[in-house]
Amino acid sequence: MKIKLYNSLSKTIEEFEPISDNTVRMYSCGPTVYNYAHIGNMRAFLMADLLQRVLRVVGKYDLQWVMNITDIDDKTIRDSRIGSEAWLPEMGEQTESAIDNLKMLTEFYFDSFTEDISSLGIDVEDFYALPAATDYIEEMQTLIKQIIQNGYAYIASGSIYFDVAKWRQSDTYGKLFKIDFDNFKSGTRIDTDEYEREHVSDFVLWKAPKEGEPQWDFEIDGSNYPGRPGWHIECSAMEYELLGLPFDIHTGGVDLKFPHHEDEIAQSKAGYGCEPTNYWVHNDFLEVEGEKMSKSAGNFFTLRDLIKKSLDPLDIRFAMLSAHYRTKYNFTHDGISAARKARMRIQEYIYDLMDDSNSGKNAFDVAKLRDSVFGELGNDMHTPKALANLFVFMNENKAMEADLESKNEMLAFLNELNHIFAIWQFEQRPTTEKLIPSEITKLAEARLQAKKDKNWALADELRAKIIDAGYLIKDSKDAFEIEINS
Ligand code: AMP
Ligand code: ZN
Repeated sequence: MKIKLYNSLSKTIEEFEPISDNTVRMYSCGPTVYNYAHIGNMRAFLMADLLQRVLRVVGKYDLQWVMNITDIDDKTIRDSRIGSEAWLPEMGEQTESAIDNLKMLTEFYFDSFTEDISSLGIDVEDFYALPAATDYIEEMQTLIKQIIQNGYAYIASGSIYFDVAKWRQSDTYGKLFKIDFDNFKSGTRIDTDEYEREHVSDFVLWKAPKEGEPQWDFEIDGSNYPGRPGWHIECSAMEYELLGLPFDIHTGGVDLKFPHHEDEIAQSKAGYGCEPTNYWVHNDFLEVEGEKMSKSAGNFFTLRDLIKKSLDPLDIRFAMLSAHYRTKYNFTHDGISAARKARMRIQEYIYDLMDDSNSGKNAFDVAKLRDSVFGELGNDMHTPKALANLFVFMNENKAMEADLESKNEMLAFLNELNHIFAIWQFEQRPTTEKLIPSEITKLAEARLQAKKDKNWALADELRAKIIDAGYLIKDSKDAFEIEINS
């Protein structure tokens, strides 16, 4: 089936055509590993995962999916410095070497990142590569030299900058994002990795070293310019090395359109003479109370925070995947509970289909359902419409009423769908105890103890937690019963 995607470059929905044969080469901007990723970041990774799964399952393509790991930037350096408050004992003893310290901090958070995405149902085996930026310093230097040689970069005070004014004489700067050139003055420079569109300036490709910061030698025409790469050059060099240019799809959150992706385009064209990619796909924000979730706004939760509150990461996965990726997603506990109910309804339907003791006489039109669900998934990943079609079908066609052949066809289709959603189990209906997560049982046991201790406030608090997580608790003398709140 053909896949349609909204391309931020053309600002229209386009039919997707891979560059070569049946293999899609896709690059996703990954995490900056200076701390635990928050669930806003997770939305970006889940969207990329959804896309690669839709391409595989609906489009029948093979994938080469690369997600970079930003292990060198302003934030990783700040938090790995000697004496940094962000340093945790689990990372090991800091050493005299700034590079070793950087590696220790970033490897610690890289491990937490792979753990988090795995619990969210992203299969690490699906990546073609998860490259760390510090393993590609030489390749970045080669690209920077090429940009200098082509006349689009210059050296000032030991740093190297991209010459935006010069570039604008050759090509558009502002392909993804309308840039404000009103305040732009040729030759003004910006050293930080992140900046606003009003501050468009010559951006840094290579930064001169500062006391105590990691640095690498960089020889240009017989002179050494020790320092470290800017953020944007990292992706340009890794894409080229791992996927070749142009590749098919580049993903990331909308906040990366400018400056990160705009600068990536300029660097690739100025250095390699080639656009990086044919399709740019951007997810909108995950918000909390109408505001983008971000570390700097302080309104963030990590996945770990939510798991501690007894939320199931697969409910979080389903909740996020159920919203269209180009709309804002407002994170609420009610939203996660609703997603859990929807997930469990489909799970119950699967259990009914798997129950051999009960079959009906109705023949289901599974091929039509499959076309309508996959059609929506292939239509710019319209998960809300795809799921709505599935729910309408389930309402009109009870699993127990299906004849044996329809049951099997339906199971085969839902199994295929599960290669995209990755949240259901295909096994016989387990006993109730198995369906109740152990954290919930622990909360209920703690509540029983609190009641015995006559600590009513604690008992109420624990009860509220159990209910918030989507369960009901029924009391009998010295015992309890937990049920799923469906
Ligand atoms: P970072 O680790 O900050 O480089 O971000 C990793 C990814 O998360 C990028 O693709 C960002 O665009 C994305 N991102 C950051 N905050 C949010 C948010 N609140 N909602 C959705 N995506 C986000
Ligand atoms: Zn990037």
